[in-house]
Amino acid sequence: MSAELISGKEIAAETRRELKEKAERLGEEGTIPGLAVILVGDDPASASYVRGKEKACREAGIYSEVDRTEDTISEKELLQKIDKLNKKDNIHGILVQLPLPDHISEEKIIEAISPEKDVDGFHPVNIGRMMIGKDSFLPCTPFGIIHMLKMKNIPIEGRHAVVVGRSNIVGKPVGQLLLNENATVTYCHSRTKDIREMTKQADIIVVAIGRAGFLDESYIKDGAVIIDVGINRTEEGKLTGDVDFESVKDKASYVTPVPGGVGPMTITMLMYNTLKAAERAAGGKKG
Ligand code: NDP
Repeated sequence: MSAELISGKEIAAETRRELKEKAERLGEEGTIPGLAVILVGDDPASASYVRGKEKACREAGIYSEVDRTEDTISEKELLQKIDKLNKKDNIHGILVQLPLPDHISEEKIIEAISPEKDVDGFHPVNIGRMMIGKDSFLPCTPFGIIHMLKMKNIPIEGRHAVVVGRSNIVGKPVGQLLLNENATVTYCHSRTKDIREMTKQADIIVVAIGRAGFLDESYIKDGAVIIDVGINRTEEGKLTGDVDFESVKDKASYVTPVPGGVGPMTITMLMYNTLKAAERAAGGKKG
């Protein structure tokens, strides 16, 4: 058997077309969706992610503004910037690009963003609402993964999903979303005794650990669906995932490539969340 590729690139393009139409409709009704991004310092990876977000906003008809500040900015000054954005009517989503310099508490910054504008879905209010299955802004990468599975009509309910990695931004929330979709979920992490024993039982495997080529065919059963979140750089500077693609491709039923898999979905769901925030604000204005 040869696995079918889940092209995040294609699904993202289709979804972004729909989002653009939505943005146009909102614009005609008098609300131009707006996203504010704060980038602290000059980390090249963060700068490149922010450029990607700006481009995606432009293409989707979302107004965006990027505040690029020196990494010497104090926590207080950053909190003041967020406070101003929280009050700005033309800004519906606020995103502070992580990581932040050591002298700034990420927790304080995330919690300062209004939950109504938290389009990254990292605020504890949104995480809590996600846990109890209430409407919320879902974290973009996990949300993108669920969206991909649904777009490919891959069933989740009743299946065993194994998530490798338990970070707050990927592993934990993707497991929660899979559970919300009625999967049976197992989490694995660096202290798990025998990861292979777990993943071999999985119908769906999500790997998000940041270890190039970690998951090979010995970790999977025939027909497993494999979602590769990892972004690693080879010595030659090429992007590669946490999955040994060549090794699993004849045994899995579906697999996401890197690049072109989960990556494009993350920004797409950021656009989705920004539009949702704008729609809510517009609804509030009308009501
Ligand atoms: P973190 O470093 O925050 O978390 C890594 C997780 O993996 C931890 O839970 C850690 O376990 C676990 N882990 C690390 N090594 C092993 C191992 N050998 N075996 C089992 N578990 C292990 O990473 P992120 O979640 O932020 O990101 C994971 C990967 O996904 C990275 O490559 C990142 O670049 C990529 N990524 C991709 C995105 C996209 O849009 N495609 C978005 C976000 C991230 P423990 O908790 O026990 O330490």
